[in-house]
Amino acid sequence: MAERMLKFTAVPRRTPQKRAVAERERDFHEIFAEFIDAKASEQASRCSQCGVPFCQTHCPLHNNIPDWLRMTAEGRLEEAYQLAQATNSMPEVCGRICPQDRLCEGNCVIEQSGHGTVTIGAVEKYLTDKAWEMGWVRPLVPGRDRGQSVGIIGAGPAGLAAAERLREAGYAVTVYDRHDRPGGLMIYGIPGFKLEKPVVERRTRRLAEGGIGFELSFEVGRDATLPQLRERHDAVLIACGVYKARDLICPGAGSDGVVAALDYLTAANRMGLGDAVPAFDSGGLDAAGKDVVVIGGGDTAMDCVRTAVRQGARSVTCLYRRDRANMPGSAREVEHAEEEGVVFEWLAAPRAILGEADGVSGVRAARMRLGPPDVTGRQSPVEVEGGDFELPAQLVIKAVGFDPEDTPTLFGEPALGVSRWGTVKANLRTMMTNLEGVFAAGDIVRGAALVVWAIRDGRDAADAIDTWLRAKLDAPALIAAE
Ligand SMILES: Cc1cc2nc3c(=O)[nH]c(=O)nc-3n(C[C@H](O)[C@H](O)[C@H](O)COP(=O)(O)OP(=O)(O)OC[C@H]3O[C@@H](n4cnc5c(N)ncnc54)[C@H](O)[C@@H]3O)c2cc1C
Ligand code: SF4
Repeated sequence: MAERMLKFTAVPRRTPQKRAVAERERDFHEIFAEFIDAKASEQASRCSQCGVPFCQTHCPLHNNIPDWLRMTAEGRLEEAYQLAQATNSMPEVCGRICPQDRLCEGNCVIEQSGHGTVTIGAVEKYLTDKAWEMGWVRPLVPGRDRGQSVGIIGAGPAGLAAAERLREAGYAVTVYDRHDRPGGLMIYGIPGFKLEKPVVERRTRRLAEGGIGFELSFEVGRDATLPQLRERHDAVLIACGVYKARDLICPGAGSDGVVAALDYLTAANRMGLGDAVPAFDSGGLDAAGKDVVVIGGGDTAMDCVRTAVRQGARSVTCLYRRDRANMPGSAREVEHAEEEGVVFEWLAAPRAILGEADGVSGVRAARMRLGPPDVTGRQSPVEVEGGDFELPAQLVIKAVGFDPEDTPTLFGEPALGVSRWGTVKANLRTMMTNLEGVFAAGDIVRGAALVVWAIRDGRDAADAIDTWLRAKLDAPALIAAE
């Protein structure tokens, strides 16, 4: 084994080929090419096969990374794929969009020793794309019919991961989603240059072919209430994500030309999918020819700036109130955006949106500095007096985060327990809410997080639902008495 592995001193770290800026800024295709076979094996062989693999500990799914890297280095690709998919419902998605620099790769021991991390995400993507190409991804086979059904609200990664496991366990599963396509933010939020839509579509197709029912354009609260779904199913999983955009608080924030990030990104994604989008056609959600200012420093802001570049904006500036080191978005995404010509105004916060009745003309921003840490330990931005400056803008995109909607009211179930932030409260172990047989997973429990966490929660919720339903079937009297 040692012969094939531990090559990190001799073999430099290489990512798959990144497309040139001049080419990639003209389309919405992914920016990285695939590893060629030899490169994937070579890069996997850099792994030091640590006895205590920190990459695995810091992967929310605890993927068995060292073992599948070794199998890849040895050319045992199908086995490596089988191992990778045993803990991950969508390894090719995580391989593409996990912020690996903060998760597995950021904790790779050879990264810590200065040799550059093993390219774990790229190998995971390569293995699973290869598996699809070679027919190693097996159809979903439902387990023996258990005669019980589960309703899932939300076809995002949490709902889909749960649906797959529950169907494998033999339940009838129906997934309800208010959108017309399954996939959640993987379809309508995250742009194609990070995650091409066919990658998600082949996953959801496999689930539908395995007998999972999808009721699309079905909004819980409008087309059925939560109590009605509880009557229809033996258990219900809430996996509806968080969608209430936080607002800008400054004069002019409500002007024409100030748009919410998700409206902007959804329109761009729908255009890419070939849908008719009147708000894009009328120009309101199209950055072409405009000076664009995006406010925020998270992944959503990074997706907005890079989408604006691809739509042909005249200039794109990102305004963030803290500094580069303290931004919530992935450092790698900032690097990509800078390469694509985005200007970052660190330590800057909007003071006012400027303009006349016919639309926005600019943003006045205050210069900030980092003050002492607050109770959370994070340094708070403090205004620098006299540091104001102005930027031209005909389109301002607010990407300052999301909160949960008022789920109890929306779902017609005021008794549903929520936290003071509005997230649905679920028991950490059983994943059940305060309502018997109603479970919750993903962003609606954690707050806005990551796809990999949603997958983890969806898988855990499926196991918890299975345990609960088995107990219910085996001892109905016992449960009724509780
Ligand atoms: C722009 C953007 C970029 C991101 N980039 C990344 C990234 O690069 N990497 C990463 O790991 N994460 C990223 N994330 C975060 C990631 O997308 C989410 O954490 C993840 O999708 C959450 O999964 P979920 O299943 O909980 O919810 P969602 O993906 O939000 O899915 C919830 C689903 O529930 C449906 N729904 C909501 N309400 C109802 C209702 N009343 N009735 C029926 N259906 C309903 C919605 O239509 C949606 O399809 C990004 C998020 C955004 C917004
Ligand atoms: S799922 Fe994400 S964190 Fe885990 S190994 Fe894959 S890329 Fe890394």
